[in-house]
Amino acid sequence: MAAGSAPGAGVGPGRRIGVFGGTFDPPHVGHLVPALFVAEALALDVVLLVVANVPWQKVGSRPISPARDRLDMVRAAVDGVDVLEASDLEIRRGGDTFTVDTIAELRSQGPDDDLVLILGSDAASGLDTWERPDELRRTCRLAVVERPGEPVSVPDGFRHVTVPVPQLDVSSTVLRDRAAAGLSLRYLVPDGAVAILERRRLYR
Ligand code: ATP
Ligand code: MG
Repeated sequence: MAAGSAPGAGVGPGRRIGVFGGTFDPPHVGHLVPALFVAEALALDVVLLVVANVPWQKVGSRPISPARDRLDMVRAAVDGVDVLEASDLEIRRGGDTFTVDTIAELRSQGPDDDLVLILGSDAASGLDTWERPDELRRTCRLAVVERPGEPVSVPDGFRHVTVPVPQLDVSSTVLRDRAAAGLSLRYLVPDGAVAILERRRLYR
């Protein structure tokens, strides 16, 4: 196996890796369908669903489930889907989660890899509020997917493409509210992830 490659890597020196970060509290079809569509559209070898350790921009505005629970739900959600992979990289790093550090860490693991940061339009429009946005501009390309009611707009200087995806008007916020009210999450959240959040009573 060539240096810098990994099991499952395609032919060639580096892998094409999608990096889809999120809180995933819980993961849902609005994450998973765009992840698959972007993988297909950009011929990615893998999309990493990178579970944020401490999503610092959300802290204080609402309770956040333990990182371990969110990781387990994402693992269950992608189980059996080769191109999607749950990543605990940000949890292992610990502390506040800065995507720019994640990109740097992946870059040092695979210097020849092509890194594509996948973002919904709401996240993309706020990129300049993230940690070290100029470093992010230099170190990755973006694939942006539109979210219902959020036209795509990307701050200047980011290399980006927009990938068309089905418009799925679903958010973790609405799903947490449904779970708290005892309403069903079926078909919006994969069964394995629903089983975990029910067993652990995450949003009750
Ligand atoms: P919350 O309501 O708690 O903020 P969320 O549903 O927005 O949760 P996040 O974990 O915040 O999910 O989002 C992670 C990434 O997934 C972001 O880039 C976000 O834009 C994207 N995303 C979330 N939901 C959708 C959706 N329905 N369609 C497209 N992209 C989405
Ligand atoms: Mg969100």
